[in-house]
Amino acid sequence: MEKLDGNLVSAHIKEQIKQEVIDWQEKGGKKPHLAAILVGNNPASEAYVGHKVKSCAELGFESTLLRFTPDITEEQLINEVKKLNDNDDVDGILVQLPLPDHISGDAVILAIDPSKDVDGFHPISQGKMMLGQPTFLPATPYGIMLMLDHYNIDVAGKHCVVIGRSNIVGTPMTILLSRNTKPGNATVTLTHSRTKNLAEITRTADVIVAAIGKPGFVTADMVKDGVIIIDVGINRISDATKKSGSRLVGDVDYEGCAPHSSFITPVPGGVGPMTICGLMKNTLLAAMQKAGEIVGN
Ligand code: NAD
Repeated sequence: MEKLDGNLVSAHIKEQIKQEVIDWQEKGGKKPHLAAILVGNNPASEAYVGHKVKSCAELGFESTLLRFTPDITEEQLINEVKKLNDNDDVDGILVQLPLPDHISGDAVILAIDPSKDVDGFHPISQGKMMLGQPTFLPATPYGIMLMLDHYNIDVAGKHCVVIGRSNIVGTPMTILLSRNTKPGNATVTLTHSRTKNLAEITRTADVIVAAIGKPGFVTADMVKDGVIIIDVGINRISDATKKSGSRLVGDVDYEGCAPHSSFITPVPGGVGPMTICGLMKNTLLAAMQKAGEIVGN
């Protein structure tokens, strides 16, 4: 069993991005600028946005964090997004999800200028991804592909079972894994809450991507020996042995599944840091594209 170390890989990729920013500035480019919108003070969202802002500083990006109280209306929030669209200094915009129930996440994301959609959630970005055209890939699936690439894990011809069909993780993951790219060319099965006999399907998987949001959902009896496990889940569970009274776990029972796996991502320290890499790469790409330097991803 080899642990897929997201902290290590992301540190490596961040060094590359940092150098690209230095080179870019030497050629007269400006610092990439990421603007993040946070509504309310959900502790998990605070933590995620905090990591993103910190990463911007580490990599030589500029960042702006716009905070709004949960009583902001959908119209007001959309207006804030439009202001960022019109702000020439801003290269990338992210709206931290989830939003309060009275605001449609879809409507807010639709308001983002696709050329600044560094989370890759806009329908134009998702459509281009589906067609295999260059675009901003959703940050978490992009980060997972970067990790597979870093470890030279060839998924071609392998059976990949993705558990969860969200628009931000599960569904785009199936598209990226099945594309004619490297990594890619996998045979993919998408499973979800209405899938029957899930364990029978996962037991046939060479690769499992778990994006469910249920702690320890994938157990040892659901996996075959040699499986590659990518655990996307981030769940906070209570733990009296911790000073904080809680700890983070994934959607996979790590202790039970790791001995059966050939590669496995831990939580924390697996997919989470890779998501930030995906976002940062997209933001640099956005800045370069805006300046007319077209690069693919
Ligand atoms: P979501 O709630 O939008 O989707 C969950 C999916 O799980 C649904 O498609 C549902 O069909 C499926 N599901 C639920 N119960 C199931 C069951 N019994 N059997 C099979 N499938 C079932 O979740 P999401 O936004 O994709 O996030 C999933 C997890 O990943 C969460 O824990 C979230 O916090 C985490 N996450 C982590 C990162 C990261 O950077 N590591 C990024 C995004 C999300």
